[in-house]
Amino acid sequence: MISAQNIQKNFEKLEVLRGVSLDIQKGEVVAVIGPSGSGKSTFLRCLNRLETIDGGTIEIEGEKLVLTGAEGIPKYAEEAKARMICRKMGMVFQQFNLFPHLTVLENVIEAPLTVKGVKREEILPEAEELLRKVGLEDKLNSYPSRLSGGQKQRVAIARALAMKPDILLFDEPTSALDPELTGEVLKAMRQLAEEHMTMIVVTHEMGFAREVANRVIFMDKGEIVEQGTPEEVIDHPKQQRTQAFLNHIN
Ligand code: ATP
Ligand code: MG
Repeated sequence: MISAQNIQKNFEKLEVLRGVSLDIQKGEVVAVIGPSGSGKSTFLRCLNRLETIDGGTIEIEGEKLVLTGAEGIPKYAEEAKARMICRKMGMVFQQFNLFPHLTVLENVIEAPLTVKGVKREEILPEAEELLRKVGLEDKLNSYPSRLSGGQKQRVAIARALAMKPDILLFDEPTSALDPELTGEVLKAMRQLAEEHMTMIVVTHEMGFAREVANRVIFMDKGEIVEQGTPEEVIDHPKQQRTQAFLNHIN
């Protein structure tokens, strides 16, 4: 479904991704863990073109988003095609990124209306259904400033789902939330996992990773150091760096 091979990314002299390779199958839930600055967010951002890459290839559902051209320089798919490929991926950020001047419902329908050209009467019932699914049926006409962090994040999830993505990328969706609000967001994500949504989740929530992820990836200093089942990586890490990280956060 997603195949990233040997992804390299530098910010000037800083090597942020040093050859990251990852294949993700349909329906897999992959949790990415690792210390601050290890390149987790950058990796997600490279997958959906929010960052360019300096080396490697990316394929989404068999379509090449980035291929290596002559001289080994990455070459992006033609712009229109790349945009279509990236539409298969939805992303949920730590900081929600809702439009403050739009209501909850308008936030959810905005991209399908403007990007996909879906008809309003078609998307409205779908958006209401998505908002019901994340428990916000009574907030359709509220503005984001009137919502709690957990509610905002659930709007962000509904908004990503409104584009009918095949893959959802989450970058620390609960780390801006007070602890009592993380549960409601994790519940919505757990429900998506049960429906076999393909997800990559950067998270510090080891409980969630252990329970929901099929695979856990530990990144450090721009590399995948270790990966396996939650039991293998979280409960019985083999690498010293993984052990040190887990000891530190527990
Ligand atoms: P955190 O857990 O704190 O979110 P992370 O694993 O997501 O960390 P990244 O945000 O991917 O880490 O950052 C990796 C490294 O790249 C860091 O050293 C960071 O300072 C650097 N970096 C990220 N974005 C940029 C940028 N736009 N310009 C320069 N350096 C950047
Ligand atoms: Mg990050």
